[in-house]
Amino acid sequence: MSSVLPVGGFEPVGPDCRRAVVPSPWPPRSVAVFLIDGGRPWLVDAGAGSTESVEALRRALTEELGPYSEPAGVILSHNHLDHSGGLEALDPESVIAHEAAVDLFEADIRTPSGLPFTRLRGSSGAIPGVPGWQWILAEGHAPGHLLLWNPESATLLAADQFLLGLKTPLRIADPDEDSFGAYLESLDRVAELEPAVMLSGHTEAIREPAKWLDRERRRLIRQLERTRDAVKSGARTAEEVTHRTYGSVPGEGARQLLLREKLAALRHLAARGEVRRHRTEELESFSA
Ligand SMILES: [Zn+2]
Repeated sequence: MSSVLPVGGFEPVGPDCRRAVVPSPWPPRSVAVFLIDGGRPWLVDAGAGSTESVEALRRALTEELGPYSEPAGVILSHNHLDHSGGLEALDPESVIAHEAAVDLFEADIRTPSGLPFTRLRGSSGAIPGVPGWQWILAEGHAPGHLLLWNPESATLLAADQFLLGLKTPLRIADPDEDSFGAYLESLDRVAELEPAVMLSGHTEAIREPAKWLDRERRRLIRQLERTRDAVKSGARTAEEVTHRTYGSVPGEGARQLLLREKLAALRHLAARGEVRRHRTEELESFSA
């Protein structure tokens, strides 16, 4: 059974949090937005910029808040277009996001400039103007990716960082970024909080976070061990490591995700000095 969320209007998913799901042009084809209560309701993420997505979000907000009632503003989990593309159409009074996400958003020619951003700086803090909620920086999937945390109800909004039954795509765009390490760190950081529930940006909620986090951590450690072994036995590239570990992987989507994770794992091992990295213009390769 798929854990991907079906499109639908707002419904309560916790004592202080409601979720709606709107269509997205990109896999997995739908994306969640949340309303959290901090005095006035704040919207978390804005869906995609496609007509379908924008209309679904407007409809859901009108049904939930009434025709004249707007959310106080938007808190953006990260700058990917399935979460941020709806911002322009929504025209919010205020957008709260991490400075690293704002920088990327403003550098992207596909997204509008001049939105009323409030930039969060550092690695965690209270969300300005939204009592009861805190933010935590959790990278690996996207720079400036935020988790939203309500200590009172132990609810964590995880956006794309933690997905039920889907692999979180690790970022590989910057060869000098250790996205694998950042993702591992975020698992440890969140495990310490002991959340009661983790709500994802694309999938059903993670209802047993401690178990899920532990399993995910063990999967990644195993992944690192296999990667190290493959390099020791002569694999030089992410492609070769993937082939050595899994043989041929059916499906281009699954193969791309694995390749990404393997490249991120190789870079993490290189950052820790456990393998050596060699870079030319065309090729990034590794050796024991
Ligand atoms: Zn994303």
